[in-house]
Parts: sequence; structure tokens; C-alpha cells
Amino acid sequence: MSVSVCALRLPSLDSLLRHPACQPLAERYGREALVTGFRQLLDDLRDAVVAGQLTAVEISPEALAGRVSERLALKQRSQVRRVFNLTGTVLHTNLGRALLPEEAIEAVQLAARYPLNLEFDLASGKRGDRDDLIEGLIRELTGAEAVTVVNNNAAAVLLTLNSLGARKEGIISRGELIEIGGAFRIPDIMSRAGVRLHEVGTTNRTHARDYEAAIGPRSGLIMRVHASNYSIEGFTARVPTSELAVLAHRHDLPLLEDLGSGSLLDLTRWGLPAEPTVRQALLDGADIVTFSGDKLLGGPQAGVIVGRKDLIAKIKKNPLKRALRVDKLTLAALEAVLGLYRDPDRLAERLPSLRLLTRPQAEILAQAARLQPALSQLLGEGWTVTAMPALGMIGSGSQPVARLPSAALCLRPLVSKRLRGRYLLNLEAALRALPIPVLGRIDDDALWLDLRQLDDEPAWQAQLGQLQT
Ligand SMILES: *Cc1c(COP(=O)(O)O)cnc(C)c1O
Repeated sequence: MSVSVCALRLPSLDSLLRHPACQPLAERYGREALVTGFRQLLDDLRDAVVAGQLTAVEISPEALAGRVSERLALKQRSQVRRVFNLTGTVLHTNLGRALLPEEAIEAVQLAARYPLNLEFDLASGKRGDRDDLIEGLIRELTGAEAVTVVNNNAAAVLLTLNSLGARKEGIISRGELIEIGGAFRIPDIMSRAGVRLHEVGTTNRTHARDYEAAIGPRSGLIMRVHASNYSIEGFTARVPTSELAVLAHRHDLPLLEDLGSGSLLDLTRWGLPAEPTVRQALLDGADIVTFSGDKLLGGPQAGVIVGRKDLIAKIKKNPLKRALRVDKLTLAALEAVLGLYRDPDRLAERLPSLRLLTRPQAEILAQAARLQPALSQLLGEGWTVTAMPALGMIGSGSQPVARLPSAALCLRPLVSKRLRGRYLLNLEAALRALPIPVLGRIDDDALWLDLRQLDDEPAWQAQLGQLQT
């Protein structure tokens, strides 16, 4: 209909497909993808002419093949991309939390490649239960009577509440009615689990007598939630788990403790901030303890529920368990990670998250000093690049106020204050556009690349030349 369309002379689809320049593309991406690619490209070119954005009258088949090749390569590239996490937050929820040890990666490969005894008891030849694969190990490491594993800790909390407290009241301190990222709010989860929330005490202070006064014929359970992503300081009071357990048991109520991250071992032995251990929570009298697989544990995404045998049996009978169960890859990885905990002396070498969390600041600072000249030269006159001490975080709601002494490359634009923001955002975008996107953090008019997690220096060096600022 438009004259300009006629002005654009494009080769026919058939002639393009027969053109020698297109043969390698057909082999690489398949004929069908190539045809679709050309159709879309030709349509886009015609549209561009109609819109007056394109005036060229002739485009060679080679040029068209080049354009289609770029488009197909982009399309074929996986949406799941490796990145460099230089944010300073080690267990970053948006970046996939814990990195798995080699042992777990091998276990995942095996489980992916071959049939396995997922729900099959090899000794008796009868049907088995997938929890059996990790139950022994988790019992050994936590002292729990029984174990079950679900998709994540949010699922563990939901399933536990629903199994033990549906149509009854769940008693919880007002200081523990928390929200964790991604719309996980304890009051909402309780209500979805069919548990009526009975809040007691105040935001900063809750006493044993507050719990006691709340207990009545409608009570189903007492819940305690670990303050994982905030801290209440000053004039505060909370009832220790051991005391709360005595109170709960006197009234024949189960005590649930959501540890969030929790830890299987005392982390202070590696100089990290103290985190309650699962074993201690059980020793203190919690009847059920829930925690994540991919936070401080350093394993795959999972929610572990441990505790009293009769309660775990009840939880496992809940039909929701079937909807929340873990897959074989997760179980394989989890077993391999837990196996490493049998040898705590070598854990920090073998478990990546622990190795990264315990990297000494001096080592990271030396690395920053080593990488500084190349980056400084690359960015040129407009920037200062300095190796600086920095403070990182564990992340994923573990020890929200604790800071990890780390080191970073601090990139500061040498422009007027008015322009700084834009320069920083541009550089941030350029780093994200690298083949392995680099993610840092902007703070105090500078872009910080915390190097605690940069252990693949060759990959870092190899792509640096491609930075386009
Ligand atoms: C992180 C956290 C959760 C949620 O765990 P996911 O494994 O992310 O589902 C629940 N409760 C607490 C206290 C947490 O810290």
C-alpha cells in the first residue's frame, strides 16, 4: 500500500535459504528456526520502511544472514545466566543463594542421568519413602527423632502449621510477626495454613506470663520465629526456648521453632557471628524445628523439618506434603552437602558458602590491590579506582546486623556531583552487559565491587576488555 515498501528490494525467502551464507546457519539452528528468523527479519525491515525509519533500497543476502545469525544466537542463549556476585552479600536470594560443593554437583549429575532409588528400598525390594534417603544423616547431625524435607523453608513452615494447628490457635509473640522478602509474612502464612493467629506481648517485650495468659481450650501450638532479618534492641525481653518449651508441654502444646537459616554447627569456630543451631533448639525442647537448605547450611533450596517422631508422622500424612515435596536433584545435592558436615575440620575448605564467608579480609584486600591497575587503566581518566576495605553481609536473613570485613574495588567518577549518578548507572549497566554480568553495589557516590566472591579471576580478566563504557 505504501510506495516506500516497493522502494525496498529484499531477496525472497527461498533465495535466501539457498544462499551459501545461510548453510552454516541452517546446520546450527535448524531449518525451521532459520525460516522463522528470516520471516521476522523481513517483516521488521518492511515495517521499518513503512515507519520511515529505513531508506536503504537494497540489502545483500550476506548482510541479512548476518542479522539473522545475531538474532538466533541471542535467542539460543540461555535465559539462566551465570553472574559475578560482587554485591558484598554472600547468600544473595536474588542471585541463587548458596553455591554447591563439587560433591553435590556430582550427585546432581548422577541423579539427573540415571534411574535411582528415589522411593525404592533396595534392601527389601519394596516401595520406599524419599525422606529415607536423608533421614539418617539429618538425625545424626541434629539429634532429631525424625525428619522430613520440602521445597523450601516457607513450605516447611506452612506445612507444619497446617498439620499441627489447623482450626486452632497459634500463639506467637508480637515481636516475631515478621515479613521475609518475597511476601512471606507470618500472619498471612498462618491464616493460609488455617491457623488462627493469637498474638501476645508487645513488639519489644514478651514475657512467659503473656504466653501463659493466652493458652486456652482453642490453643493448638506455640510458635517461635527467629529474628533473621531485623533486630530489636534496647528495652527488650523474650522468653528463652527452654522456658517456653516447659510452658508449652505443661499444657500439652507443641512448640515450633522456625530458625530461618539456622546452622548445623556453631559458626563461631570459624569466627562468624553466632547463629542458633538446630541441635540446641531441639535440646532446649522445641518439638519441631524448621530451617532452609540454601542459607547457612550451604546446600540446595529446601526446607528441612525435624523433631518429634509423632509430629513428623502427622506432617508427612498431610496431603499438602505431596504438593510441597522435593525432587530427586535436590535430595541428591542435600545428601552430598550434609555428608560434608560429618567432617567439620575440612568443612570450610569443601563447602563453598563457608569458604567464601570465612575468606580473610587481608586476602581479599590483596586481591583488590592486584586487580586495581588493570581496571583503572581500562576505565581511563574519568574514574579513580581504589582497593578499599569494605563491609559485606552474610545475606538471606542470616545475621542482619552483622557485617563481614571484606575488600572492594571502589570506582568513583571524576565528574561534577550533578553528573555522578548517571555515570554510575551507565557503568553499572556496562558491567551487567558483559558476557558474565558483573553485579556490584552503588553507595556513597561510588560503585563498589566487593571481591569476597571473586574466585574465578581468569574469567574476570578474560572478559574485562569487552567492557564498553
Ligand atoms: C528465610 C526464612 C524463611 C523462608 O525460608 P525459604 O527457604 O527462603 O523459603 C522463613 N523463616 C525465616 C525466619 C527465615 O529467615
